[in-house]
Amino acid sequence: MMKEEKAVVVFSGGQDSTTCLFWALKEFKEVYTVTFDYGQRHAAEIECAKEIADELGVSFHVLDMTLINQLSANALTRDDIEVKDGEEGELPSTFVAGRNHLFLSFAAVYAREMGARHLITGVCETDFSGYPDCRDVFIKSLNVTLNLAMDEQFVIHTPLMWLNKEQTWELADELDALTFVREKTLTCYHGVRGDGCGECPSCILRKNGLDAYLSKKGEQA
Ligand code: ZN
Repeated sequence: MMKEEKAVVVFSGGQDSTTCLFWALKEFKEVYTVTFDYGQRHAAEIECAKEIADELGVSFHVLDMTLINQLSANALTRDDIEVKDGEEGELPSTFVAGRNHLFLSFAAVYAREMGARHLITGVCETDFSGYPDCRDVFIKSLNVTLNLAMDEQFVIHTPLMWLNKEQTWELADELDALTFVREKTLTCYHGVRGDGCGECPSCILRKNGLDAYLSKKGEQA
């Protein structure tokens, strides 16, 4: 199969990356997923990602990235740090500096191994929660850097970059995946699948987007 037809999706089993996976399955003939194990507080996240990949019949590969915990402490991997939004001008407690940069770079090496040209990531500038390596300008810069680093012609796709959560639900619906994404994905910081705990910042963002989309859809119907 040609490089142009193969894609690697950076995949966590959450709403955003699962929507990206459905997008990739529509765009490319052969799709691989890569999931990062960085000692998430909820191993359920990796289990969830594996189940979704299996159900959709795509290759699933876990990369051990626990080494990032040797660099910094954060709320996603440590029980003694509370998950909270950053105060104005501060980053949220879930932040690991440079994490997305590192993960995407490893994903690109994996893509090269798989003979895939395309990389898909669910990063988003609109719901931008303070992560500089999720910004569009960073992704474009990294794309150039990866091509120079490996003498390749990668294309990094960011289908969600300019969408808010409501529009991400709309995209899932357009891909005939709204129910799947709603029921099977895990976005909640407390490890509750589907609609989640309903209280953490991630659940609230997800629910507000879903409510907005469903009410817009209801008005149109
Ligand atoms: Zn939650």
